[in-house]
Amino acid sequence: MIDTQRSDYFMTIGGQPAASLSGATFEAQEPALGRSMATVPLADKEDLDLAVAAARQAFDGGLWSRQSGQKRTRLLLKLADLLWENLDAIATVEARNIGKAISSVKGELTQGISELEYFAGAATKIQGRTNEAPNGFLNYTTREPLGVCGLIVPWNYPLLLTLRKLAPALAAGNAVVLKPAQQSSLSALILGELATEAGFPPGAINVVAGKGSTIGAQLAAHAGVDKVSFTGSTAVGRSILEAAKTDFRRLSLELGGKSPALVFADADLDSAIPSTVWSIFYSAGQSCDARSRILVQRPIYDAYLERFVELTGKIRLGDPLDPKTHVGSLISPEHRASVEAYVAQGLAAGARLIVGGGRPSDPALAMGAFLQPTALADCRNDMSVVQEEIFGPVAAIMPFDDEAEALRLANDNAYGLTASVWTRDLGRAHRVAQKVRSGVVTVNQPFTVFPGTPFGGFKQSGWGREVSLEALGEFTELKSVLVYTGERPLDPFRLG
Ligand code: NAD
Repeated sequence: MIDTQRSDYFMTIGGQPAASLSGATFEAQEPALGRSMATVPLADKEDLDLAVAAARQAFDGGLWSRQSGQKRTRLLLKLADLLWENLDAIATVEARNIGKAISSVKGELTQGISELEYFAGAATKIQGRTNEAPNGFLNYTTREPLGVCGLIVPWNYPLLLTLRKLAPALAAGNAVVLKPAQQSSLSALILGELATEAGFPPGAINVVAGKGSTIGAQLAAHAGVDKVSFTGSTAVGRSILEAAKTDFRRLSLELGGKSPALVFADADLDSAIPSTVWSIFYSAGQSCDARSRILVQRPIYDAYLERFVELTGKIRLGDPLDPKTHVGSLISPEHRASVEAYVAQGLAAGARLIVGGGRPSDPALAMGAFLQPTALADCRNDMSVVQEEIFGPVAAIMPFDDEAEALRLANDNAYGLTASVWTRDLGRAHRVAQKVRSGVVTVNQPFTVFPGTPFGGFKQSGWGREVSLEALGEFTELKSVLVYTGERPLDPFRLG
């Protein structure tokens, strides 16, 4: 069983627990209490080289890549079982490490393990097809693993997003080097230990910890890495793209978002209002798919705002480990300062503060990076709070007159990750779902994914899809085999 109070963690390289070769470490933080909670190895290029070499060995030597699909399924399910057994302990560590409410973390781990199980089943179902070819020829395709995959994960949903990449990568037969965000490394380090306990061959799963600007960038540019699957900000995504261009390394990019919720006057407001409160303030707004722009049709605008404020006032901010807490702290005081700066910009540009806007007054929360759920009304599309990803508990709300205007406002943004439509008009629901430029559209509900739902963005929200069978395509190469099946020898130059 995982010790939730332990203070030392190790990386996993070649199936072994590893300190950094230099002996360097960093302190894992507990942002709700403003203190450190554990010591973690700080990897540098030498450690990374070892991890990539171990992964290459597992892949090139066939130890993992040539295991049967059944064997991969069994090991992935074994890992899932170990995660289920340790769910409460891992959730406690993760909730402390990122300041998120434990009820949310448990739900996210449940989702993550379910995705692992989903892809465990997929390991035996990686398929090609036969294609039409002229008489005497046979063309079939196979899907082959890519090789060594570098998985780079952000801090906002640490283990869920790790499993979201790890599961399809391994199911397809790749070996992986995983780099969690420095702010949220602990659950990934635990995962590395559980992978060894589950019996994965050495080198199939390697976990290194350290800075994004050093080993993250080095992993993204490493000559021994065939594919990088990155989830994080659009700005860092651009640098990953830059690093990949030398040798056309394969890339998946799950980037930022500024997702709209479109609330029409005919919506069921008893669902729409609490759901739109939830879909911005869940995880303190630190979700790529947070519905951070709320567009409300003018006839219900004032009533919507009134109820939105009332419900937002009921959100319980507090100790992440208290099961009654709805929302914990932000990831760090520095991040809170950046969110506060956005609120100030919004107010200076003429938005109206209708709730929140400051730090909570409860002295018990004074040491943590807490911020009240905040809503700005009467926003306009030219404001930074509407155009840019704040990644904090800030809703930008604005009115619209009709469907065409709602769509114009919703699509006038560089991002295109998710969107929600709230209406009782079935035709409108489908029309808007078709016309909104987002990778995922939810209709009359706020939840974005279940295992099997394709997830990923249009526009600057990234490249590729996760969570669903499409993810197997992201972790395989397609090979086309063309066979001559005719009875006589081929003589294309007519030489004979
Ligand atoms: P980030 O881009 O700062 O960091 C993400 C990861 O990249 C971390 O592991 C970090 O250490 C690493 N990194 C940092 N600099 C790097 C570099 N130069 N080269 C390689 N790796 C580097 O993002 P973050 O602050 O951790 O997470 C928030 C962002 O992630 C938001 O923009 C959010 O929308 C996005 N996100 C997207 C999705 C999605 O599925 N589309 C999901 C969650 C979060």
